[in-house]
Amino acid sequence: MSGGISFELNEEQGAIRDLARNFSRDVIIPAAAELDKTMKFPQDIFAQAHELGLVNCHVSESCGGMGLHTLEGCVIAEELAYGCSGVGTAVEANTLASMPVILGASEEQKKKYLGRLIDAPIQAAYCVSEAGAGSDVAAAATTATKKGDTYLLNGSKMWITNGGVAQESGGWYFVMAKTDPSASAGKAFTGFIVDAQTPGITVAPKLINMGQRCSDTRPIFFDNVEVPAENVIGSEGNGFKLAMGAFDNTRPPVAAGAVGVARRAMDEAMQYASERKTMGTTINKHQSVAFMLADMAMNVEAGRMLTWKSAYEIDQGRSNTMYASMAKAFAGDACNKIVADAVQIFGGAGFNTEYPVEKLMRDAKIYQLYEGTSQIQRVIISRHMEARGPGGLAP
Ligand SMILES: Cc1cc2nc3c(=O)[nH]c(=O)nc-3n(C[C@H](O)[C@H](O)[C@H](O)COP(=O)(O)OP(=O)(O)OC[C@H]3O[C@@H](n4cnc5c(N)ncnc54)[C@H](O)[C@@H]3O)c2cc1C
Repeated sequence: MSGGISFELNEEQGAIRDLARNFSRDVIIPAAAELDKTMKFPQDIFAQAHELGLVNCHVSESCGGMGLHTLEGCVIAEELAYGCSGVGTAVEANTLASMPVILGASEEQKKKYLGRLIDAPIQAAYCVSEAGAGSDVAAAATTATKKGDTYLLNGSKMWITNGGVAQESGGWYFVMAKTDPSASAGKAFTGFIVDAQTPGITVAPKLINMGQRCSDTRPIFFDNVEVPAENVIGSEGNGFKLAMGAFDNTRPPVAAGAVGVARRAMDEAMQYASERKTMGTTINKHQSVAFMLADMAMNVEAGRMLTWKSAYEIDQGRSNTMYASMAKAFAGDACNKIVADAVQIFGGAGFNTEYPVEKLMRDAKIYQLYEGTSQIQRVIISRHMEARGPGGLAP
């Protein structure tokens, strides 16, 4: 029997991994603690990553990008998050904003808006969540009312990653807004590309979050914002599908980010445990510490395998929704256990900002929250299991 399964990256993927890993080691890691302290957006690092082709790598060659697959995006995401997941999220937010455009926009729209992201290190943001609509996306209340050749956007969005820097840099937003209040969620919303500097848009001050503090998270207000009808993505009523469809492509790299943070915490804990001595021996010789490290290794490997599987499925052109949710939930939950155990292995030093693991513990939490909470991933997985029925998950 020939063929079969491969757990190996090919030569090109290996080169991409090495590029991202070296960039993380040489540029991101040295800056991470300071970025955490100052909460400054890493524009300089973003620009360097952009120059190397580590940002927007999913954009097709016809729009000037590299047209990488989801799997390669995951390889990059793991390495960037290993260095600093706040930087990783800043990069990933461009992917998230671009995805509805990639999925549903015309060639002309793609060339114009994705092309802008390739031409310069500017930011885009995905504007879907609202104060009253996070897990319950269908509860979004921002409206778009058609007036001749334009739509008027009114309402507000919440927790928008890259929201401020996209405006400062002359980037754009993907905005999901209600165009037909009488329709069901699947038809009520439309997706728009909105120039972030359009009059009527107000970006509130950066939110101060628990972790990933250099990432730029903002509330955004829309007050009679005029959007040309030509900036509708696809057709009216398609917005919910576009917004949700994006996650099939972006949850795998988010899961990869969680694997990156987890692997970093494991490495830091291994190093510390091999140096710190108690009761006459290094602490990695105490079985309870060694077993924590072993659990970390198992979960990093399992998280990565599930993540790569979820990426592989969509790269093969198959529906990966269930696997993307499995990867995101598993890797996010495992990451949070691993960072907490890393802090435990560091003892008191783990609680202190002079050592790297307290930042990792704060950074990790978001992986159970954004792009669908761990609970919402389980809702999705269980629905898919129900639809497949017993035996439906057999290979
Ligand atoms: C730092 C950060 C960056 C973000 N970036 C973006 C962005 O760029 N763009 C964007 O659009 N959004 C963004 N978000 C929003 C994010 O996706 C939401 O916060 C998330 O989906 C959860 O929504 P919520 O905060 O409203 O919580 P809620 O929906 O209010 O959930 C509260 C709790 O209830 C649980 N819950 C809710 N409904 C169910 C259910 N049906 N079954 C079981 N449990 C349930 C949740 O799991 C959670 O534990 C970001 C959020 C943060 C914190």
